[in-house]
Amino acid sequence: MTVGEHRPSEGPIVTVDGPAGSGKSSTAKAVARVLGYRHLDSGALYRALTLALLQEGIATDRWPDVSEEFLRALDVDMRPTDEAFSVWVGSRVVDSELRTEEVTDHVSHLARLPAVRGCLLDLQRRAGASGRLVADGRDMGTVVFPHAEVKVYLVADVAERARRRLLQEGAPTGGEADLALQIETITDRDRRDSERDISPLRKADDAHEIDTTRLDFQDQVAAVVTLVRRLTIS
Ligand code: C5P
Repeated sequence: MTVGEHRPSEGPIVTVDGPAGSGKSSTAKAVARVLGYRHLDSGALYRALTLALLQEGIATDRWPDVSEEFLRALDVDMRPTDEAFSVWVGSRVVDSELRTEEVTDHVSHLARLPAVRGCLLDLQRRAGASGRLVADGRDMGTVVFPHAEVKVYLVADVAERARRRLLQEGAPTGGEADLALQIETITDRDRRDSERDISPLRKADDAHEIDTTRLDFQDQVAAVVTLVRRLTIS
């Protein structure tokens, strides 16, 4: 059964979408903390399903044929914690395994499949059922929470996004070859995410775009918090 999106009475939903490396997850997490809301990192669910398929040893060229029923049986789940959600595959909490190079390389191939999006939609909507949520991803404002009270779309120059990704991974950021490779990787993933038929990466018509290229992290968080307070305090 699909859980339809509804407007929770308990509190607002804030969506933060944008391309890879735009600072969505770290910003959404910090904004949630300031507001006392819970943070949903929807990318972690796509990563968990990718991890589960890799662990099952399903060859990647067979992924497009995998049914929604099969994906559900992999038992990817999410449970609320104080500030966010833990992600489960079967009886195990997964975290650092979600960010390996292997998972990152495969996740956007999986995320374009209708069965995958169907399988994860209910889980995400459940997370928003009681409001007070800051959800980040690619389609939070367009598909998962189209009635969210506040929608943010973060953008930044691709070179800056690549530099941040290298920093995040603890890799050197000074080398031109490393930077060029990261720019290529990010550009490829953005293209796959933007050009897919279902739930493509796209700014919702009613989203507020914030360019973070020249903002430091604190300013980025403050810009979103200010927007949320302005739009939700009546
Ligand atoms: O945000 P993160 O880099 O962890 O997302 C990993 C991948 O999961 C993205 O490149 C995208 O293919 C997919 N994704 C998605 N829709 C979301 C969140 C993530 O398609 N809402």
